[in-house]
Amino acid sequence: MIEKPHLPFNSNDLMPFISEETIDFHYGKHHLGYYNKLIGMLKDRPDLANMNLIDLIRHSHGRDDMVGIFNNAAQIYNHSLFWDSLSVSPQKCCSTAAKLIQDSFGDLDHFKKEFSSAAAGLFGSGWVWLVKNSAGKLEIITTQNAKTPITNPTLTPLLVLDVWEHAYYIDHRNNRPQFIEDFVDHMINWDNVCKILGKVCH
Ligand code: MN
Repeated sequence: MIEKPHLPFNSNDLMPFISEETIDFHYGKHHLGYYNKLIGMLKDRPDLANMNLIDLIRHSHGRDDMVGIFNNAAQIYNHSLFWDSLSVSPQKCCSTAAKLIQDSFGDLDHFKKEFSSAAAGLFGSGWVWLVKNSAGKLEIITTQNAKTPITNPTLTPLLVLDVWEHAYYIDHRNNRPQFIEDFVDHMINWDNVCKILGKVCH
């Protein structure tokens, strides 16, 4: 059973960094578009009807006969984590997250530089992720198109930035670096990172 994804804030809450028009298109047309397509595809697949979203992503991953189902299911998950990765008001990196960042990247500035450079260097459409690996360290990884680290049970996705053009083109045209800078400097939802880690943000 796949739940309809929701937006955890109002369309104009991220202004001035992301416009209401961008959010309305991104959530209303793109994110819900993936959901509607998947629901349509599942009508012919009663065998998959009882799977939850993550199970469906893992089940369809890498299967030639399920490319459409994988792409749409993965995009539903990726976008839901992206909305949860955005804070409607600037947040300081809390000490809980800062400690993990320090252990893995040296300090917050190094993390921001590494994350930004991964986001700027990703060719074409895709996603930039902060994940926790099985050794408890944080890593920055990128995925192309709909690909998602949730297919790898040893990785826990904590934070994600959508760098498909539809995420920034209305507001910034081709200026992806501005969009990245706004994200790392003003919009990272550290509370949500801590929530996924099962830790209190303080
Ligand atoms: Mn998107």
